[in-house]
Amino acid sequence: MTTEPYDFCCCKLCGELAAKPRYQLKGTCLHVCAACDFHFISHLDSMPDDDPEHEARTLDVTAWNFIEGKLKGNRRQLGERLALTDRHRPLAGAECLDIGAGIGLFSHLLQEAGARACGIEPQLVFRQFARDKFGIILNAETIDAPFWQQGFADHFDLVTLWDTLEHLNFPVETLRDAVRVLKPGGLLLLDTPSRDSFFYKVSEWSYRLSNGANPLFLNSLYSPRPFRHKQIFTVRQLTELIEKLGLELVALNRSGLLAPSNKIVLVAKKA
Ligand SMILES: [Zn+2]
Repeated sequence: MTTEPYDFCCCKLCGELAAKPRYQLKGTCLHVCAACDFHFISHLDSMPDDDPEHEARTLDVTAWNFIEGKLKGNRRQLGERLALTDRHRPLAGAECLDIGAGIGLFSHLLQEAGARACGIEPQLVFRQFARDKFGIILNAETIDAPFWQQGFADHFDLVTLWDTLEHLNFPVETLRDAVRVLKPGGLLLLDTPSRDSFFYKVSEWSYRLSNGANPLFLNSLYSPRPFRHKQIFTVRQLTELIEKLGLELVALNRSGLLAPSNKIVLVAKKA
């Protein structure tokens, strides 16, 4: 993934030179596209390959205990995602790729369910945890690499991105590359925060009414720290993108002003 200087006037969703800074947040600026209303911050991560400091952060006792402490909650949520996946494509014997695999927990659950699982995770600390805890070797190469694009074209039955889309430098390109490694008829499943959520809207109102003094949750929804949230889609933006990439929407858990969920969860099929 390129880390060349990026012109944040160029919308990361529609590509028009129509994005302008609208919300000044802690350490970053939230841009809004006048052409498609996409929201994204003016920050991109440097990838571990370009930044030797990433590799210096390794799994110490503090990091191990921190991750262990979150394992139970993660297991519950990913258990639900596993059941959702299995309802749409029985997992036994399925070829799966988990993009943004984190500590390898979903890959581990897939393997327990009889699937064959690969995972992509750029952060060394998480890959080390996955190896030491679950015996899973995650791949550091991102999905745009020839390793995946040439070696695994039309290969996978299932590609998953749990809580990943909002963290990516270039979500459109990553989804396009993810679709390429899916078999025809294969399924893409993902979840991501929803910009239609009540507290996103309230945060925007609060920002405007206070002249920027009180952005409420916008400072926790976005962050310029490495591998944190860079963009948040509306349901409409995401479903239109999914269809533009040649996928057919199979299932969608809508969230919105009155819906309890703050997340978009969707299942889509490659034609
Ligand atoms: Zn746009």
